[in-house]
Amino acid sequence: MSEAPVLLVTGGSRGIGAAVSKLAARQGWRVAVNYASNKAAADAVVDAISADGGEALAVRADVGNADDIVSMFETVDRHFGRLDGLVNNAGIVDVAQRVDEMSVDRIERMMRVNVTGSILCAAEAVRRMSRKHGGSGGAIVNISSMAVIIGSPSQYVDYAASKAAIDTFTIGLAREIATEGVRVNAIRPGIIDTDIHASGGLADRARDMAPNIPMQRPGTAEEVADAVLYLLSPAASYVTGSILNVSGGR
Ligand code: NAP
Repeated sequence: MSEAPVLLVTGGSRGIGAAVSKLAARQGWRVAVNYASNKAAADAVVDAISADGGEALAVRADVGNADDIVSMFETVDRHFGRLDGLVNNAGIVDVAQRVDEMSVDRIERMMRVNVTGSILCAAEAVRRMSRKHGGSGGAIVNISSMAVIIGSPSQYVDYAASKAAIDTFTIGLAREIATEGVRVNAIRPGIIDTDIHASGGLADRARDMAPNIPMQRPGTAEEVADAVLYLLSPAASYVTGSILNVSGGR
């Protein structure tokens, strides 16, 4: 049986998660590629990894659903038999609205997917990786956002608040399990050129925002993936509870 380490990437089928999955496979990880509904996109990532000589598995689960999360980790257990890393990447925005226009349903969905989903996935990973639970250690990388600093007024303040929760969760969990062989860090991407902007009704947002970015361009999913893989790697062995901006200076 292969001894290569195993990484679960939530939302690994598109955008930043797909870039993380592919780079991780090239760096020797076996990868569980989670997706919510777009099976074809997940299969394409798995096929690309296989064509490159790597090993990957597509796993459907809505991280906004606690039962789905448990099943996803059980599938990873059955298929790979170990877990060494988690990238809490799955996340959503919504259409641009003022806070005084937002519905309860919108806010609850945002928090359920972006916050509760990430915390529940981290808990499942800790149960498998922490030395306290008989695991052999590992690393968690949470995908936050520069929206934490900017607040995203008149677009999605609820999203920004959900990512602020991710930052604080990262610091707290990192300190809680610092002696258990599991490091926990976060990345704050800036404006990255992915489908997420279209899902919020602003398909050209990445290009339109370029003049507001010190580097005058959006970032690529691959540039975020490089930072994620650093935090997962032994090169970051003394890095925990850190939040790294990958934002072109924004
Ligand atoms: P994206 O292109 O919209 O891709 C989202 C991915 O997450 C897809 O694989 C999607 O799966 C999956 N997903 C969505 N909801 C899910 C759910 N409930 N359960 C499981 N998977 C789900 O997004 P992205 O731009 O790569 O963003 C990835 C992360 O980076 C998010 O946390 C986002 O907040 C953060 N971020 C992005 C930017 C940016 O500018 N792009 C900036 C800062 C932070 P399906 O294909 O099945 O839908």
